[in-house]
Amino acid sequence: MDDLAANQTAGLVCAHNHIYSALARGMPAPPRTPREFLEILELVWWRLDVALDLDIIEWSAKLTALTALENGCTAIIDHHESPRAIEGSLSVIADACAEVGVRVNCAYGVTDRHGADGASRGLAENDRFLSSGGRGMVGLHAAFTCEADTIAAAAELARRHGVGVHVHVAEGPNDTWEMLRGHTTDDWLLIHGVHLPDDHRLRGTMVHNARSNMNNAVGYARPTRFGNRIALGTDGIGADMLDEFRVSFVRAREADVTTTPDVIWSWLENGWDLFPDARQDVVTWNYESMDPWRLAYTTGVRPHRVEIDGAVLLDDGVVTTVDADEIRAKAAEAAQRLFAKLEAP
Ligand SMILES: [Zn+2]
Repeated sequence: MDDLAANQTAGLVCAHNHIYSALARGMPAPPRTPREFLEILELVWWRLDVALDLDIIEWSAKLTALTALENGCTAIIDHHESPRAIEGSLSVIADACAEVGVRVNCAYGVTDRHGADGASRGLAENDRFLSSGGRGMVGLHAAFTCEADTIAAAAELARRHGVGVHVHVAEGPNDTWEMLRGHTTDDWLLIHGVHLPDDHRLRGTMVHNARSNMNNAVGYARPTRFGNRIALGTDGIGADMLDEFRVSFVRAREADVTTTPDVIWSWLENGWDLFPDARQDVVTWNYESMDPWRLAYTTGVRPHRVEIDGAVLLDDGVVTTVDADEIRAKAAEAAQRLFAKLEAP
């Protein structure tokens, strides 16, 4: 980091994403308008995830990786769920991101929503992927959709692989989280924490997703109240981390006008503790000074050039590894197939 010019940063890290939701934009409207967070899950996301197949997941991953690269994000920590296409899904995501050249950390979000068999197949997919040398964590959807045994099994599997657990925590007001107590370790990723008390005693990094929380009207997490390390994620709404930084900043200012951009920028920087390789990546921006106070009030800052592992993957704003037009066209075709499945009776 030390030898970077004023118009450069290391590769930005998205600490929580849902690659599987990349094609959701433009999806058919739900049968009725969701009125609260649990209904948003039931009427939108839990209809989408059962419609996913490995081909749709592959194009979602290529599109997400492509747009991440175009936004200077070189590392994504993903949380995946596809109840009808579990086996092999994490490798499909990892391979697709590798083809584009973006780093990814994969986890399958285990849940008992589809019964004990679904939970055990989710655990098996995490185990299979990690055992085969894949970079990842063990995923849990959230404590409120898991049995106690499933949570214990996920924690144990993660321990065995020497990784943490990636889990949604207290996103909505009814999202019970107490069952996680006693399991968490410092390498866990705790996503949201909106409705956690200040003294929750859960260990791990808290990942804040300001835009997603506002979109779901779940409330403001007020991350500064926690002793945990804080990082920033998009929760599936793209991988433009400068944009996420700006939204997180204005949301924090709305709650406390004395908040400085440096605080929010430090949350973005914490992504490099979670994904250290991205520190070696170099992003050269179209803006003369990548200073938090300037960036908080400057829109439209774009990367000119992105180097990952010493190779130039974005040159003059154009991705060099893959045909971006082809990926967009194929992803649009996959999206139409997904929408047709969603509309099928
Ligand atoms: Zn999420």
